[in-house]
Amino acid sequence: MKARILILGGGFAAIATAQRLERCLHPGEAEIIMISRENFSLFTPMLPEVSSGEIDVRHVVTPVRSQLRQTEFILGEVRNIDCERKIVKFVHTLRGDEGSVAYDHLVVALGSVISTYGLPGIAERVFALKTLEDAGILRNRFMWLLELADSTPDDQERRRLLTMVVIGGGFTGVEATGEMVELFFDVRKFFPNVRKSDIRIALIEGGPALLAGLPPKMGEYALANLKKRGVEVVLGDGVKCADDDGLELASGRRIETRTIVWSAGVRVSPIVQQSALPHTKQGAIAVVPDMSVTGFPGVWAIGDCAAIPDGNGGFYPQTAQHAIREGPVLADNILADLRGGKTQAFKYTSLGMMASLGGRKAVAELPGKRVLTGFPAWFLWRSYYLSRLPGLERKLRVAFDWTLELLFPRDISELRVYSSRAQSSAADDAGIRPRPGNE
Ligand SMILES: Cc1cc2nc3c(=O)[nH]c(=O)nc-3n(C[C@H](O)[C@H](O)[C@H](O)COP(=O)(O)OP(=O)(O)OC[C@H]3O[C@@H](n4cnc5c(N)ncnc54)[C@H](O)[C@@H]3O)c2cc1C
Repeated sequence: MKARILILGGGFAAIATAQRLERCLHPGEAEIIMISRENFSLFTPMLPEVSSGEIDVRHVVTPVRSQLRQTEFILGEVRNIDCERKIVKFVHTLRGDEGSVAYDHLVVALGSVISTYGLPGIAERVFALKTLEDAGILRNRFMWLLELADSTPDDQERRRLLTMVVIGGGFTGVEATGEMVELFFDVRKFFPNVRKSDIRIALIEGGPALLAGLPPKMGEYALANLKKRGVEVVLGDGVKCADDDGLELASGRRIETRTIVWSAGVRVSPIVQQSALPHTKQGAIAVVPDMSVTGFPGVWAIGDCAAIPDGNGGFYPQTAQHAIREGPVLADNILADLRGGKTQAFKYTSLGMMASLGGRKAVAELPGKRVLTGFPAWFLWRSYYLSRLPGLERKLRVAFDWTLELLFPRDISELRVYSSRAQSSAADDAGIRPRPGNE
């Protein structure tokens, strides 16, 4: 009988694993099944640019089915991992009916979700930047804020509407902030009642520096650049709570705002946490260096949801860069297991990290801890990420978006339909399926 390899998730780690398996499995040796709740993989490094309208929403996604030709794809939301019976239960994303798949080998690659650490008022109010939907909602929100601000005669309300606060000064927060500056100052000319001084963008970081964990020069450059472009950067002060009109920081300082963008942390998916698999203190699945789970034969975990020992007493970071390298090693280990061979530890030295600041500036950490800043780093950021996009078609679409952005102002359409039919169907949707909170 053919062995069955079941892969959960359709992101960087899952696709990299399945692609290697498709290439290396002998005919009839095993079948591969993938369950993911979306029928595409998302290229997250470009999400901040989607939220600012620089890149079209469709251009950062690639259909799973076009990347994998020998894998059976199931569009479903994983609900339960039963390691004792070796069965995974799911609900079909569109039909809503339940199904289950048995496995011989299970690859858990379900990524992460945002974590707001239970802070009062935060989870239900913040805008995340984690999924494609998040980026679309944020972009619409920015247009909505500008339309409302332009039409209000109340100066204080206009300023409150145009105060945006980003929480978290890691690379996602820094990139999102830089993109917001570009967007608001680029499209302001279309809103005659909005003054430059009405727009306030703040970035709040609880630690003492931006881009913690990267060489200090990168955080210092990002700080100076964002400040120069008008961003209010607050360091060493965390968020305490939020309400409908604003948020309060740990220091007691209050900021009046209607838009809080959260990029201050992630945690593993609740499905993973509820499973019987062993977890680290942070909630990730504890695996051994070859990415297998001790005590659960045939179970492997990878990507953001796994804590993979790095050989120095720590764990590899949760980045796409690592996830796409872990996939092929894990696939080789499954093949070794199927063929009675020896598995290998995952070993990888990071190529460095980059963060785009918008305005044709970026910071980049190069191999050997060297740092590049400004335009050369931005050029490197764009060239590198363009080359990492899957498929020529996506590369061309994104390159085209970037070229258009050089020549024309950004599109300010708010992508919502105001017809009564659309409004009533939105209300129906809301009644049947209220938009879930962020946690
Ligand atoms: C805005 C942003 C920018 C980033 N920029 C960078 C960068 O520049 N460089 C870098 O290296 N990393 C970056 N990252 C981090 C990177 O995206 C993650 O580390 C990477 O996506 C992890 O890969 P993964 O396969 O583990 O998870 P993901 O890519 O998140 O994939 C998880 C998959 O599981 C699916 N899934 C989740 N739950 C379920 C369920 N219950 N049922 C079915 N399917 C499910 C999801 O739909 C998805 O397909 C960024 C992240 C964000 C949010």
